[in-house]
Amino acid sequence: MDFRQLELIDPILRALSAEGYTTPTPIQQQAIPVVLEGRDLLGCAQTGTGKTAAFAVPILQILYRQTQRKPGIKALILTPTRELAIQIDESFAAYGRHTGISHAVIFGGVSQQQQTNALRRGVDVLVATPGRLLDLMNQGFVNLAQLEIFVLDEADRMLDMGFIHDVKRVIAKLPAKRQTLFFSATMPPEIQKLSQMLLTNPVKVEVTPPSSTVDKIEQTLYHTNKADKQSLLIHLLKEKNIKTALVFTRTKHGADKVVRFLHRANITAAAIHGNKSQNARQGALNDFKNGRLKVLVATDIAARGIDIDELTHVFNYDLPNVPETYVHRIGRTGRAGNLGTAIAFCDVEERTELRDIEKLIAKRIPVIEDHPYPSVAPAAVAPPPPQRVMPRQHNRSMQRRRY
Ligand code: AMP
Repeated sequence: MDFRQLELIDPILRALSAEGYTTPTPIQQQAIPVVLEGRDLLGCAQTGTGKTAAFAVPILQILYRQTQRKPGIKALILTPTRELAIQIDESFAAYGRHTGISHAVIFGGVSQQQQTNALRRGVDVLVATPGRLLDLMNQGFVNLAQLEIFVLDEADRMLDMGFIHDVKRVIAKLPAKRQTLFFSATMPPEIQKLSQMLLTNPVKVEVTPPSSTVDKIEQTLYHTNKADKQSLLIHLLKEKNIKTALVFTRTKHGADKVVRFLHRANITAAAIHGNKSQNARQGALNDFKNGRLKVLVATDIAARGIDIDELTHVFNYDLPNVPETYVHRIGRTGRAGNLGTAIAFCDVEERTELRDIEKLIAKRIPVIEDHPYPSVAPAAVAPPPPQRVMPRQHNRSMQRRRY
């Protein structure tokens, strides 16, 4: 299938082709016709599936086709993090570059001046994080009276990050007559309730859950020592001639330490985490995307939703203690049909985490034995074959088992 079969208009087809997209992803194939028809949508999909274009493309087409576009915000996209908000806004810019549809992005942590200036000029599509949106609504800068389409993105993360009350406050101010598109990677009961409240006779679209999408990513594991992880990272970056790598650490302090060590080895690197200013984080992300930085070191919170095309390598410098986090981390590579490689380091204290991850993904990660920094601890006794378990059982067993 190609995008023409989705009956997209020429200005959008040209933009998609300039982006290098040839085939719509499964969520795009399913969602675009539904949204173009004006139906409500419940999309179960995570970042990396092409879900941004799945809503941005039909929204642009609907607005473009309006012969008399009224002034005012006609589409609102609510998303949990600043990074996601910026990426979604960039997608509207890219896919809508031949449509003349205006868009703006607002998020907290930076001065509001530029954002309020954009709002004053008038925008068709507004991308926002909930806190700043409410703030600017309360100050009278945002008028949603003309709103036609509302997108709630990453609803489950809104809940995780404690934004759900803000989201509900925004929803209370939206016009009742509107089209609503609701996206969530998982459907915990509170999110299910919210979706039922928001959607009218929705079409449900579901794409592959995360644990199976990781199958196409080549995963390897290095048993090593805590004190040798830095040297092992440098060794692998050089030996494998890696062009770009996203390295995950468990703590902000750990991220800064890795960056300092890489600098000493003349490897360009920057860290993004919660202690960095929004500008520093965005600067580092841009430098990484443009190839000015070889390594981006991130904590999980800061890396939420980061989407980098053609990222080839993800390192789990520290293993996460929530096994699902491993799946999310490695899902940053192998995007949109590209090949990806995920490399994990495991010191003796992390073997329990490893066991839990292997249970979740229901396979053993192949171990590379031949490297210069092997673990000095005795090898673990071969555990029984992993079986897929429910996440909750997992967390409980994680606290108990140590070997
Ligand atoms: P998303 O899930 O929206 O964050 O998108 C994940 C990545 O896939 C982004 O880097 C997009 O640029 C890319 N992408 C989205 N749709 C397509 C497509 N149809 N073909 C190729 N790449 C795509």
